[in-house]
Amino acid sequence: MASKRPAKYDILFEPIQVGPKVMKNRFHQSPHCIGAGSDKPGFQAAHRGVKAEGGWGAINTEYCSIHPESDDTHRVSARIWDEGDVRNLRAMTDEIHKHGALAGVEMWYGSSHAPCMETRCTPRGASQYASEFETLTYCHEMDHDDIRQVQQYYVDAALRSRDAGFDIVNVYGGHAYLPVQFLSPYHNKRTDSYGGSFENRARFWVETLEQVKNAVGNDCAVASRFAIDSLYGTAGVEVEVDGIKFIQLADDLVDIWDIKIGDIAEWGEDAGPSRFYRQGHQIPWQKFVKQHSKKAVLGVGRFTDAEKMAEVIRNGELDIISCARPSISDPFLPQKIEEGRIDDVRTCIGCNVCISRWEIGGPPMICTQNATAGEEYRRGWHPEKFEPAKSDDTILVVGAGPSGSEAARVLMERGYVVHLADSSEKIGGHINAVATLPGLGEWGYHRDYREVQLDKLVKRNRDSQLALGGQALSADDVLAYGADKVIIATGSFWNGDGTNSLTHDPIPGIDSARPDHATPEQILGGTKELGKKVTILNSDPYFMGPSLAELLAARGHEVTVIDGVGFGNYMHFTLEAPNMHRRLHELHVNVIGDTWVSKVEDGRIQTYNIWGDGSRREYRGPGVIPREENRTYEWHDYDSLVLVTGRSSHDGLFRELKARRDEFAKNDIKGVYVIGDAWAPKIMADATFDGHRIAREIEEANPQLPIAYKREASVWGAAYLPDGEFRQEWRV
Ligand code: ADP
Ligand code: SF4
Repeated sequence: MASKRPAKYDILFEPIQVGPKVMKNRFHQSPHCIGAGSDKPGFQAAHRGVKAEGGWGAINTEYCSIHPESDDTHRVSARIWDEGDVRNLRAMTDEIHKHGALAGVEMWYGSSHAPCMETRCTPRGASQYASEFETLTYCHEMDHDDIRQVQQYYVDAALRSRDAGFDIVNVYGGHAYLPVQFLSPYHNKRTDSYGGSFENRARFWVETLEQVKNAVGNDCAVASRFAIDSLYGTAGVEVEVDGIKFIQLADDLVDIWDIKIGDIAEWGEDAGPSRFYRQGHQIPWQKFVKQHSKKAVLGVGRFTDAEKMAEVIRNGELDIISCARPSISDPFLPQKIEEGRIDDVRTCIGCNVCISRWEIGGPPMICTQNATAGEEYRRGWHPEKFEPAKSDDTILVVGAGPSGSEAARVLMERGYVVHLADSSEKIGGHINAVATLPGLGEWGYHRDYREVQLDKLVKRNRDSQLALGGQALSADDVLAYGADKVIIATGSFWNGDGTNSLTHDPIPGIDSARPDHATPEQILGGTKELGKKVTILNSDPYFMGPSLAELLAARGHEVTVIDGVGFGNYMHFTLEAPNMHRRLHELHVNVIGDTWVSKVEDGRIQTYNIWGDGSRREYRGPGVIPREENRTYEWHDYDSLVLVTGRSSHDGLFRELKARRDEFAKNDIKGVYVIGDAWAPKIMADATFDGHRIAREIEEANPQLPIAYKREASVWGAAYLPDGEFRQEWRV
């Protein structure tokens, strides 16, 4: 398609020379984890290939281990240890090259942050200490022989990377990994020629860059990722002190500087969630580099909009825009900008759910906005292409939250006639309330994208319609509607009786019909006035409890939290936890952990310590708990109780319809299905996935259940590569 982009974006499409290579534009997919590594080559190749197709000028692996001494198991990194990895990663570089993009590899040696749980090797590092990030992991402090050997690992990995077809080799000194550990006084306590003065601390990195450049510099661009400020003040690297000095010292050795900030222990300061950081939040640090370097400078900062990207380049702050999350949320971001289709961009909402899956370790990455992320190979889903409708079935979707709106969008993209009904005036379901919580405004982009797309699709197919703001549909309404297939996406609600994950029962005395007890919906809907002393009962491990605590404390309430599950624990995986806890501390929110509630009376609740039942377990006969009596009961006063104890599916409509399935045939209904929170409460990403999946699989024999996906598994008895020589290759 001919370019229709406004001229102000031209700067984003100017080619740029990077060493021996030319990058066709200024869109760089920065290294980011997806759970593919080198062992799922189909996943790796298809996920990165789709971005090449979507217009990204350069696309990287996730962190790619250069040697078994750098093994991040239980998490999944790529690996370039041997010929098998070369062959598997070549599948990725081939896909990328088909679309004229460059392929980059981020060469990773984690040192003390690499737990080596699979390989059982011992990582080596600048100085010996326990990792501030990884549990119980120490490195071996390198002597000069060790230094030569590990530098050779980089060289060997660079040579293998070149053989795998990579155009850019990146010596990774971000996130407190080995090269920046040598540079940073926080990690480097040495007194020899590799420690102490700036020149000594810089020596390991400089030598490594020299050796890598000598080995592959004629064939590949050499990049270096540099956490230019550890954010520790004088204890670490500061941008205007050692940061700039290192840029000046090593500028001739690199073709590209890849600049970021922060460490690994709090890497949410780099991959900043939208709750705390706007796009371009690292620019105040990154902008120094171009003033001191003659080389191409790129950097991340969850750049979501073309306006900001162009401005950053025009201002001389960066040469190349690097994106991880925006490229996951919309792999076709560059192409949409190129074609002037800004309103088709599926903007990253900054929830960091993609990161949460990597932090948990193992599973494939998912995305709240882009349900096809991670599904490109195994399910064969393309973010922008859909199989045309296979029948002229008409489809009624009831509920326009994340799951229903996504189902309707994809079905309409396929060409089905769809009616999307919701008793609310606006699509978005529960996002409409969630996006009003402190810092979560950008989560509303999920709704906005679908709103814009559905409006366009309805105009394209005038038999489809959005039926918003009417009566809630009953089972009679659905049966008489005239649709061939029905998808129920009616969501879930917060329990009003205290039913929770600890006891699985209601809490005696709790009733959200009372004026002093309130569910999140009642608070966000403005239907409950709260008193001065608010107590939040929390047995949900994600964002609702902490968000309400922040909201209410900021409004002037005295907030106490009674928590039985770990307050905001899932937010450690989304990297929101550290600043969330700082925020709650600022607001004097009092969190009483390891505690749950036995009963509630007027104005007071009775709590107990969940560990108060004794450490000894013994059989005491039927009807007697095999532990001691819990004697930790206490009473606390409250003015208002907020109930964040758990959710339940809003599935009454589905269950009634299912009970009346004998009436389907006479109403010409072929099937009624249920998705999203109405099937079981889940995070927004999974609700969106449900909607997307059923729309792709609506013609299957039973669309309620997913069809099998391709598994990339080793099969017993199949040839294993590279036979025999495997272990030798690890040795210098
Ligand atoms: P999910 O996350 O599964 O998509 P949400 O709770 O976000 O679910 O959205 C459910 C939507 O369904 C809400 O917008 C609600 O107004 C709508 N809804 C629930 N029951 C009915 C009904 N019987 N008729 C029409 N709309 C309904
Ligand atoms: Fe952005 Fe959230 Fe998707 Fe990650 S999961 S790319 S943060 S929308």
